[in-house]
Amino acid sequence: MRQTKFIFITGGVLSSLGKGMAAASIGALLKARGLSVTIQKLDPYINVDPGTMNPTQHGEVFVTDDGAETDLDLGHYERYLGTPLSQRNNYTTGSIYHSVITKERRGDYLGGTVQVIPHITDEIKLAICSLAENKTDVAIIEIGGTVGDIESQPFLEAIRQLRGDLGRDRCLFIHLTLVPYLVKAGEHKTKPTQHSVKELRSIGIHPDIILCRCETPVTQDLKRKIALFCDVDEDAVFSSVDVEHVYMLPLEFYDEGLDQKVAIMLRLPARNADLTHWKRLVHDLTNHEGSVTIGIVGKYVELKEAYKSLHEALVHGGVANRVQVNLKYVNSEDVAPETVSDILSGLDGILVPGGFGERGVEGKILTVRHAREKKIPFFGICLGLQCAVIEFARNVAGLEGANSEEFAPEAAHKVIYLMTEWFDHHKNEKVTRNKDSNKGGTMRLGAYPCSIREKSLAFQAYGKKMVSERHRHRYEVNNQYREQLAQAGLTFSGLSPDGELVEIIELADHPWFLGCQFHPEFRSNPMNPHPLFRDFIAVAKKRRGVGASEGKEKSKG
Ligand code: GLN
Repeated sequence: MRQTKFIFITGGVLSSLGKGMAAASIGALLKARGLSVTIQKLDPYINVDPGTMNPTQHGEVFVTDDGAETDLDLGHYERYLGTPLSQRNNYTTGSIYHSVITKERRGDYLGGTVQVIPHITDEIKLAICSLAENKTDVAIIEIGGTVGDIESQPFLEAIRQLRGDLGRDRCLFIHLTLVPYLVKAGEHKTKPTQHSVKELRSIGIHPDIILCRCETPVTQDLKRKIALFCDVDEDAVFSSVDVEHVYMLPLEFYDEGLDQKVAIMLRLPARNADLTHWKRLVHDLTNHEGSVTIGIVGKYVELKEAYKSLHEALVHGGVANRVQVNLKYVNSEDVAPETVSDILSGLDGILVPGGFGERGVEGKILTVRHAREKKIPFFGICLGLQCAVIEFARNVAGLEGANSEEFAPEAAHKVIYLMTEWFDHHKNEKVTRNKDSNKGGTMRLGAYPCSIREKSLAFQAYGKKMVSERHRHRYEVNNQYREQLAQAGLTFSGLSPDGELVEIIELADHPWFLGCQFHPEFRSNPMNPHPLFRDFIAVAKKRRGVGASEGKEKSKG
């Protein structure tokens, strides 16, 4: 029987130091040593999950196969580990309290007073220990927030207790801090790190490893100083440098010997990490034949994190085609009939991503029209597919006033509508949706099977007839209009196996025009770029003329 070991990662000084990326990179290195690894994020906010949070505040909502709406760090974890995660990999203060309060209402505590310690902390420990399985060698737990925040205290108290419960040799504490470089003084400063570690020790956690986020690697002298002041081994202080590309981080950590130190401290089998794949990836990322520019026309463009997985999937598509992918984020509210040609000029491909609500939708529909008529490679995802169907219905099939029930409940032709009854693949039962309820529990979430028509762009990409992709939406293509749209030239190349739900649409007579109701970006991986993104970038590359004749650009219409 294997005993799962735990690595707890906390952060100090300030947020956005890249704790998620550090956790994912350590996970990747341990996996490369042949260990089975899982990663969990504990978020201190009160929302039960990020599903209802604004993407411009919180960033993308990442969706797992089992339909959990999770923090975007889970996307990093999956991309670095290459294995699917689940509901168990993300908890929030809200979800922890929710289960404690549910138990309290049910009478499970037998009339006892329910308190933060032990009830909330026990619930947190339960969530962490749910990862301990025979098949898991190492579970990495990232505690969101910064040490010293009121919100993260119960989580820190829980992991402090776990060290006692599980034993020291099953737990490792890594603390990520900032080591700023003061240009005027010409030196790195360790004081913030010292304070942050002091704060951590005041709640009873003694870090085993200190990871210093810094612009340039910290010197041996500095490491010695940090080790002395923070009471850790001198060879347990590491740099987490700014890298040109996020996928370089595992190699940087490896070069400093971080995985080696972790393995020694946790008494993990002594093996060398096989980093062939990572080295090849970094080589491919930095050696390209040219570049393409893709326009992302959406409404959450002010925060790039809102399209994190999409961004990464496009980069992966670039890796597969040996091109650098430059992204141009366009606010769809700026796209109007008189601006569309200007705004979208110079793009080798156009992508309309997912989204909710009416704002900016007409700009997206105009964008689709531009891509369709000017024969620019087009990729529509979720709301992007819905906009493509609306555009096609209005401008090709002659369905004037076509719209989605989401934006125009009274529209003459609701080509996108809310299904009130459908088959929930996860619950394995028919569910009824309440039209008036727009919140929680009414979305089609998680992985669903999709059957692909042969002789289609989708089949060309996937090379198989049955695939599974992740969903997060309420509305669907209205089956009543399917025949009419098909007659006008729209291809339904992907359907649910029972034929009831439209999953993929395409247009013939176009270099590449494809919309999907699901989110393929959640399944893309740097080692295994998603086939739809790979092909989308391939046609963009062809359009740009990269690779055909060195450096020469094809003129575009
Ligand atoms: N708002 C649309 C729906 O709910 C699309 C959702 C999305 O793009 N994720 O169906």
